[in-house]
Amino acid sequence: MEPARRPAFATYSILMGLPAYAALAWLAARHPGVVAGGGVRIAVFTVLAALSWRFSFSIFPKTSISLDMAYILTALLVLPAPSASLIGAGTAILGSFLRSREEATFMGNFSVVMINSAILVAMTLAGQSLVGYAGVAVQPGEGLSPALILSLLTLFLLLNTVNLSLMTVSIGVRGEPLLPYVRHYGSIFLMELFYTVPLSAVMVLLYNRAGFPAFVLLGVTTLFASVLLKNLNLAQEELRRGNEELTHRAQQLQALNSISREITANLDLDGVFETIHTQCARLVDATSFVICLYNRERAEIHYAYVVRDGKRREARIEPLGRDAISWVIKSGKAVKLRDLLARQEDVPVELSEMDPGLRAVLAIPLVRLDNEVTGVLSVGSPRPDAYTARDQETLSAIGQTAAIAIENARYYEMATVDQLTKLYLKDYFHQRIDEELNRARRYGHAFSVLMMDIDSFKELNDAHGHLAGDRFLHRVGEVIKGNLRSHDIPCRYGGEEFAILLPETEPAEAIVIAERIRRTVGEIRIRENRRMVGTTISIGIASYPRSARRSASDLLRKADGALYQAKREGKDKVIAAA
Ligand code: GH3
Ligand code: MG
Ligand code: MG
Repeated sequence: MEPARRPAFATYSILMGLPAYAALAWLAARHPGVVAGGGVRIAVFTVLAALSWRFSFSIFPKTSISLDMAYILTALLVLPAPSASLIGAGTAILGSFLRSREEATFMGNFSVVMINSAILVAMTLAGQSLVGYAGVAVQPGEGLSPALILSLLTLFLLLNTVNLSLMTVSIGVRGEPLLPYVRHYGSIFLMELFYTVPLSAVMVLLYNRAGFPAFVLLGVTTLFASVLLKNLNLAQEELRRGNEELTHRAQQLQALNSISREITANLDLDGVFETIHTQCARLVDATSFVICLYNRERAEIHYAYVVRDGKRREARIEPLGRDAISWVIKSGKAVKLRDLLARQEDVPVELSEMDPGLRAVLAIPLVRLDNEVTGVLSVGSPRPDAYTARDQETLSAIGQTAAIAIENARYYEMATVDQLTKLYLKDYFHQRIDEELNRARRYGHAFSVLMMDIDSFKELNDAHGHLAGDRFLHRVGEVIKGNLRSHDIPCRYGGEEFAILLPETEPAEAIVIAERIRRTVGEIRIRENRRMVGTTISIGIASYPRSARRSASDLLRKADGALYQAKREGKDKVIAAA
């Protein structure tokens, strides 16, 4: 129940409970003989009914069987009025007390006792009226008859109707959804009917023919069976929870294993991000998924990998602010926001522009081995309360592996990638070309290499400065990458020289790619003192096995030869070695 609803519920319970108890007191005062003479029986019925309620058990999943209704029905038929109502109220008090000790969530508080009493008193009073009005009370010594079954059936339906009506109002006051309750009631109704009516018939017969002690014996026996079944239920529940926990752990381990494995196979930062994303999305709601890297010197957050509704968004850089991700970076702690719209969170964060449409957010810090926060892993959902404590634990476990993986990939990138052009460095290129030569020999396919040198670059530098030259080189890097497939290996070979490995590429295909690069590099213009500046590029191509087949250096030499031929023939040209 929401805290805001508590006062309304308390008032309602008292308004219902007080008249119920007043009616009870009035009835008891009017029938002093019943109370005085039947006190022991009333007490025994009450204890049996309350204990049955306490030890309610389930035979089928999601159902709960409680035998207390059978005692009430029996009391209505065998005990004089208002015994059943006294038993009802007693059961409410004792039962609420017993259940409150079992389930911490089930409040054994005054409101619950009052509302339960009111409902049980109302049910029994309705039952009593029916018994009095129709005169269905069984006579001592009477045997099993259709009339008895019919009476029990009618009483059962009447009592359930009263119960359901009052519960409906009560649930409304508590502000809880009615449909699940009614659905549950409907699903167990028939089963309740099928065991309550026959059991009550047996109890009535036993009480009438064999006497009160025999009835108590049956009561204790059924109670014993209830306790056993209840314990069985608890054991089953524990098993189910253990099983669930194990499944969860297995999934978690699988995710961590996948991440670790893919990382050793894949040192490319984007590949690592994608793996982490895929694994997280398998375990938690990742409608929004963000990996940020933090630049401590500049106090900037690099949103390196952002996916929203399955679409990759553009990376961007933001200053450290007051949003959830900044909070995680500053505090080094995870944050779980239950509902961004409710704004009742424990941590003071502001909404960021990434958040629209999101309700719940879970963000954990990526922490390096030396405990420095290097970034944040964050998931978001349009559902409020989408994340549990277990989700947080899962994400943190992934985060630990992810942080190391990201760090490794970053270092690897620094060691293999040129920072100005974002193309691979020469060593890496040589390593890859050797591998490709081996593969090509083994599988008998071709591959090509391009050697490229920017034309008259010295002039551009001299005329516009080294910085302008750098900006041009940066753009050339972009153009080269933009014209290649994902498995091609572009490299900054030297100052303004580039080399590209084109795996499984025939010479004719290589010429097409080279021509495309030559044309687009020739179109690059950088703005320098209000002038648009550019130059061209020359490209030499060599292919395995046509140009050279012995070694990678032979092949590179051939490509270099073709490049110098292109320079000699006037630059801005593509030449393929024979
Ligand atoms: P060619 O068409 O014959 O290649 O003429 P070129 O001017 O490009 O001649 P060369 O290859 O000898 O000159 C290379 C120039 O590139 C010289 C050097 O200052 C410049 N350079 C090399 N690395 C960098 C760099 O990282 N940044 C800048 N701005 N210039 C560089
Ligand atoms: Mg050069
Ligand atoms: Mg040059």
